[in-house]
Amino acid sequence: MASCPLGYGSGKEKDHPMACAACHGLAFEPTYALVCKCVYCSACVGDVRDCYSCGRDVEGSEPVLEFQEKIDVFLNAHGPKEKRERGMFWLEHAVKHERKGNFMAADARYIQALEAFKEDESNSKEEISICMSKQAEIRWQRLSDVESGREMFKEAVGQLISGTNPENVNFTTMAVTYMKWGALEHSIANLKAAAELFKCATEARENAFVKGMCDGEDVVASRFALANVRVDLGENKAAEELFRELLETLPRGDQLSARGKAMRQIAEERLGDIDTKTNRAQT
Ligand SMILES: [Zn+2]
Ligand SMILES: [Zn+2]
Repeated sequence: MASCPLGYGSGKEKDHPMACAACHGLAFEPTYALVCKCVYCSACVGDVRDCYSCGRDVEGSEPVLEFQEKIDVFLNAHGPKEKRERGMFWLEHAVKHERKGNFMAADARYIQALEAFKEDESNSKEEISICMSKQAEIRWQRLSDVESGREMFKEAVGQLISGTNPENVNFTTMAVTYMKWGALEHSIANLKAAAELFKCATEARENAFVKGMCDGEDVVASRFALANVRVDLGENKAAEELFRELLETLPRGDQLSARGKAMRQIAEERLGDIDTKTNRAQT
């Protein structure tokens, strides 16, 4: 089989010719930089003074009109039968846009990835779930759309569970989504919901840990999130228990990652605060 000139499938993909020279995702609302006609996303070209691709001065921009046609030709040459592959293509570009902070473009690409994966729903549940979870985070944190973020987190979990033998659920993916969803509720002081979600995250993490899919610190991180909500709920006793338990679980000293060290420090501080409060209440 002839290999793809862009290296698709080789693991060494070059940039697509219609990739944005700034964010390297497939250009979203593709735009030519003028005078050189190098391609950018409309949102990315605005900040460019010297073209990233050819170095010439950028003196303006104009939309690329024949873009969709070129993309269709490209996609049809790259496995149009394979819905899953097409989904992966869009997913890859979504992640590129997201990494460079072009969130509108990332959101649009996640939608395209989802469309492709959904045509192959029975085989792509996990990919659907991952797309939804990532998109939910963008909606919530970057596009200030809490409502739609929450709906997408909910559906992301649903996709993982539905029609899957409980034995085969990817508990890591599930825990990540529960954690983010919990953080969303926590951020808008929806404390009871946040606590429930962090509990689910902890359970999923424990399952993943038993299967060797994550390390102990990940389990601790979900307990840590739960303990912090307990403090905000004024449930000091429950919080205290959780903080003590996680301090016992975390290894000491150099074996600890930066995240582990930060959790240990905050847990110790919070235990101190709870102690002070309890003593004050008693005297
Ligand atoms: Zn771009
Ligand atoms: Zn250029």
